[in-house]
Amino acid sequence: MPRTLFWRSCTVTRGFAPAQLLCVACGDPDTILRAVASGEDAPLQRATMRWSRAFLPVLKESPADAQIISHKLMLRAGLVRQTAAGIYAWLPLGFRVLRKIEEIVREEQDRAGAIEMLMPTLQAADYWRATGRYDAYGPEMLRITDRQERELVYGPTNEDMLTAIVQGSVKSYRDLPRTLYHIQWKFRDEIRPRFGVMRGREFLMKDAYSFDLDEAGARISYNRMFVAYLRTFARMGLRAIPMQADTGPIGGDLSHEFIILAPSGESEVLFHKSWETLRAAEDYAVDADDPVALQAFVDSMTADYAATDEKRDEAREAELGGDLRQSRGIEVGHIFYFGDKYTKPLGFTVSGQGGQPVTPVGGSYGIGVSRLVGAIIEASHDEAGIIWPEPVAPWRVGIVTMRADDQPSVAAADDLFARLASAGVETLYDDRDERGGAKLASMDLIGLPWQVIVGPRGIASGTVELKRRSTGEREELSMESALARLTT
Ligand code: ATP
Ligand code: MG
Repeated sequence: MPRTLFWRSCTVTRGFAPAQLLCVACGDPDTILRAVASGEDAPLQRATMRWSRAFLPVLKESPADAQIISHKLMLRAGLVRQTAAGIYAWLPLGFRVLRKIEEIVREEQDRAGAIEMLMPTLQAADYWRATGRYDAYGPEMLRITDRQERELVYGPTNEDMLTAIVQGSVKSYRDLPRTLYHIQWKFRDEIRPRFGVMRGREFLMKDAYSFDLDEAGARISYNRMFVAYLRTFARMGLRAIPMQADTGPIGGDLSHEFIILAPSGESEVLFHKSWETLRAAEDYAVDADDPVALQAFVDSMTADYAATDEKRDEAREAELGGDLRQSRGIEVGHIFYFGDKYTKPLGFTVSGQGGQPVTPVGGSYGIGVSRLVGAIIEASHDEAGIIWPEPVAPWRVGIVTMRADDQPSVAAADDLFARLASAGVETLYDDRDERGGAKLASMDLIGLPWQVIVGPRGIASGTVELKRRSTGEREELSMESALARLTT
């Protein structure tokens, strides 16, 4: 009989436990209540996985067709498979990471006051004709004709469609400002798709769009996104440097690219050495509802020199002297103010405070969600494989049995797995009947933050080995201490 596992919540610790187990914290079955009625049930498989039942195809050999380290590791560790040039299937491991990244992006967009929605991937060409972009966009746009001879495009971005949608419902100054976003697949027929998901043709993007009554308002919307971006990347363990970027014909200073330093990056970047320190999301705490404080914060974050190749300032570089650093960088986000570029051609106006028509102005704000998976690996790996920062790790803990034929150590590992599961710790249990050494290499390759290695010798003396992937530190601990370490 297949067992269905349900979560129960403990009334004492408020922790969750699978229904057939004792509460991990207090050990008392009577304090566990069925949570079915309150809708708190969730399948256990969400948090944990046995390798023997998973789909985790890791490769021993480095694939010959991959040039950069993240692409190699994503193929070897079984995160993605290419299905056509620049188009990828996300295998379970990669998909879990993609989801984690997406969730951090979503939380910070929500925190910044942006409102989530979802627009389709296919767009009527008419949206693009209305803004004059259909012909201007060029061969990067994939154009499709349906059986009725209607022209569609696979959306490379959404300014045109969303401006039309907002125009349909926003009539008064009272309805603004608004910032809307979605996380949706885009298609750009890149001339040279390469480096795996870093420059794909189909890729997942978070794109947000702000609508304001005037430029002063738009600047506030822009600044809120600026802070959200710093927080988003910091939460993923990344150091993303905001760099002044081209604004095109609009001019002004409201365009920044967020760049991760990595030797494989496509941009050449120069920056003040102050950006070498990694900052935490808490360092980016500012009251986003106070426009003056917000502006002061953004000014402080852009005071130190940071520029991509196209925006270099030789005079400032000379001033910096020995404090100037140079590197390659990956663009993970881009924020941009474009004024009435889309509202004006659509004749989108709202009635202003005195009843007069006002043309809203806006900006757009992109994050390369799927590119980030590669960028994080570029920033965090070693010879043995990926080193996931905890917040985006596919699972937090990996358990490895060294000898699948040794009953006591397998029983101990089973028990540990059940107890981690009941404590809600995301755990992958490598219970396969394979050589211990090969399993350890695979575990290093897929890069979970913590490993618990369970072998016959340790179990005979009551210990397991706890290994921290990022530092390689190993410690022999009793099962109870290891459990305590991983559940607190
Ligand atoms: P790039 O200069 O790298 O082509 P872009 O300026 O065309 O980027 P935007 O239109 O600003 O990119 O898109 C927002 C974000 O989407 C980028 O900052 C990047 O992280 C991501 N992105 C853009 N193109 C791709 C792609 N082909 N594959 C993966 N991610 C991409
Ligand atoms: Mg591009």
